[in-house]
Amino acid sequence: MDSKSYDVVVIGGGIIGLSTAMQIKLEKYPDWRVAVVEKDSEIATHQTGHNSGVIHSGIYYRPDSQKAQFCVGGAKSLRQFCDENEIEYNQCGKVIVANNDAEVARLQTLHERGIANGVEGLEMVGPERLKELEPHVAGIQALWAPTTGIVDYRKVAAAYAEKFQQAGGDVFTNAPVTRIIRTQDELVLETPGGALHAKHLINCAGLYADRVAEMMGEDVDIQIIPFRGEYFTLRPESHHLVNGLVYPVPDPRFPFLGVHFTRNIHGYVEAGPNAVLALKREGYRKVDVSLGESFQTFTYPGFWKMAMKHWKTALGEIHRSYSKKVFVRDLQGLIPEIQDADLAPGGAGVRAQAVSRSGALLDDFSIIRGREAVHVLNAPSPGATSSLAIGAHIVELAAEAFGE
Ligand SMILES: Cc1cc2nc3c(=O)[nH]c(=O)nc-3n(C[C@H](O)[C@H](O)[C@H](O)COP(=O)(O)OP(=O)(O)OC[C@H]3O[C@@H](n4cnc5c(N)ncnc54)[C@H](O)[C@@H]3O)c2cc1C
Repeated sequence: MDSKSYDVVVIGGGIIGLSTAMQIKLEKYPDWRVAVVEKDSEIATHQTGHNSGVIHSGIYYRPDSQKAQFCVGGAKSLRQFCDENEIEYNQCGKVIVANNDAEVARLQTLHERGIANGVEGLEMVGPERLKELEPHVAGIQALWAPTTGIVDYRKVAAAYAEKFQQAGGDVFTNAPVTRIIRTQDELVLETPGGALHAKHLINCAGLYADRVAEMMGEDVDIQIIPFRGEYFTLRPESHHLVNGLVYPVPDPRFPFLGVHFTRNIHGYVEAGPNAVLALKREGYRKVDVSLGESFQTFTYPGFWKMAMKHWKTALGEIHRSYSKKVFVRDLQGLIPEIQDADLAPGGAGVRAQAVSRSGALLDDFSIIRGREAVHVLNAPSPGATSSLAIGAHIVELAAEAFGE
């Protein structure tokens, strides 16, 4: 890479970095020189390429949260983007299923939240209607969300990148930013292939967002803790067990949704993901361990405070990760007839979950303004659904912080 100068460099070629870069060039500052730098040989290979592919409707999130705002608005913008760019998606709908009185009460709260968030078409349904929607699912009550859908987020990210490049933006792959030097009037981003010079920076580095913020000298008070989500795939002869998306009522203490069934846009049905601590930030397999990154996790005070609060759940997740029997038992809570033989090993994704020094799992998105930068510190699910809305928000922050 030749030494080049930009008005803005976006670090991270995931769906959020690409959405932001596209919107800077197309919506706000067409004349700015903008580049995206991605450390891997392709864009969208981490969270963006390893997720459930669900276009969330916005039920779960506190009404005053950015997650609620960006998910509901983002899902609409995403569907419109897909329509305009001929990207296939399917508004297949989703049921969240309650199996006991305590879950029914929590489901009611979710229903109210969904309405407060402006999610359209929500309906509480009894066992009969549930059987019509999902004949193999058992529950005493369910929340039907007809606007929830599915899409391939790699394709969405590729379309963002294409539009960005057509508008004159540069995308550099194989370009990990290893150091950032601040000179009097610019930032120098070092990569093994050469340096980039930038007036401003937008940090969308996902699993490494805290590290990039540190390179800029920011004291961000969070650390990214990687949580792997492992999936099983239903064997083709068992696909008929699931029509659309089937979720349990989540535990309100966690930002994760509980293992569920997802029919993806390519016709496969996946079961998962669980949420286990990964010993490497991009550790997609149980055997993937990075001593350096594990050391960072285990020496972070926030990790131990979180572990003290949630040790029971964490042990349960580890047990389920190593025991297919336990995984199947949990899935039977949704589809009683599901058996071990219906499930083949599937893939995995790793969530970039920010944890504060006080041990709190950050519930909402966290996007902050630094001196010459905007940092996306926490953008787990529904980050892909919300990518256009988050990108628009980042562009606004960028305009305030370094607009000219
Ligand atoms: C298991 C799982 C299931 C999920 N399911 C859903 C779902 O169904 N619906 C939904 O809306 N969301 C879902 N999400 C969340 C969603 O995938 C994320 O919110 C979204 O992909 C975040 O995008 P991103 O661009 O921030 O991160 P990423 O896609 O991780 O991109 C960050 C990029 O930065 C690059 N990078 C890092 N460090 C550097 C560096 N130093 N230099 C250059 N490049 C760097 C990385 O290589 C990476 O490509 C899920 C996530 C997971 C893990």
